[in-house]
Amino acid sequence: MLDTLGLLRWQDIADILIVSFFIYRIMLLIRGTRAVQMLAGIAVIIIVYFISGKLELQTLHWLFKTFLSSILLLVIIVFQADIRRALTQVGKAPFQKSDDVALQDIEEIVRAATYMAKRKIGALLVIERETGLRDYIETGFRLDARLCYELLVSIFMPSSPMHDGGVIIHKGKIHSAGCLLPLSKNTRIDKRYGTRHRAALGLSEETDAVIVVVSEETQEISLVKQGRIATLFDEKALHSALQSILKQRKAKSTNSWKNWFAPHKTIQKK
Ligand code: ATP
Ligand code: MG
Repeated sequence: MLDTLGLLRWQDIADILIVSFFIYRIMLLIRGTRAVQMLAGIAVIIIVYFISGKLELQTLHWLFKTFLSSILLLVIIVFQADIRRALTQVGKAPFQKSDDVALQDIEEIVRAATYMAKRKIGALLVIERETGLRDYIETGFRLDARLCYELLVSIFMPSSPMHDGGVIIHKGKIHSAGCLLPLSKNTRIDKRYGTRHRAALGLSEETDAVIVVVSEETQEISLVKQGRIATLFDEKALHSALQSILKQRKAKSTNSWKNWFAPHKTIQKK
């Protein structure tokens, strides 16, 4: 044992550490997603493949061998959205820019969301961050208007021609309204959530956007991020959650957003 340890070069240690880090990051990324079930399925196929080989069950062995040879392609097709998100994260990490959203913007968003929730007006407010949302901006009505509570509320009034779909907000501006967002394909989402919430979840699975959803049915305000949803119960909770997520450097110690999100679960008020 000691002899083997003696043969270790520094490159081997670095190699092991880097591979362990990547495996750890991949596990964090897929935790709580359908990828876990898929991995279990692949593990079963590999076990059957080896057992059938040992028992010389030739047809079964050939069948699983053929299937395993195309598994990489299958994984890429099934997880294209997750892979895209992961690559975006990897690519941007070394060049991370300031993620600060002005406090004024947060206040306008919180004011609008609480006003609309009280009056049963459904809304979808998308806050763009590092990932560009041009594809989605172009599906709506281009506004490029200054972000303010009055305009947000006017857009989502049921009588407004732009009330369907979401608004996309970035650095003090409402870029577009009535935007069509991708619906989440996750089958584990609570059945009480309809297309508005699924659209928010879908976008958050593909990008790093943070989305505020106001339900016209339940009057709840939810915050959606990275495929997860949390319900905030009052104006103050929404304000501190948004501040914590969007101004992480300043609010890190007091409000950790990680505590508020669970995969497709609503967090009850303490
Ligand atoms: P609520 O709790 O407000 O009823 P919900 O999650 O139950 O929301 P629906 O009742 O299905 O969802 O909401 C329908 C509205 O959601 C539509 O009128 C439209 O404004 C919005 N919506 C539906 N699909 C999308 C989409 N793909 N992108 C953006 N907005 C969408
Ligand atoms: Mg509904």
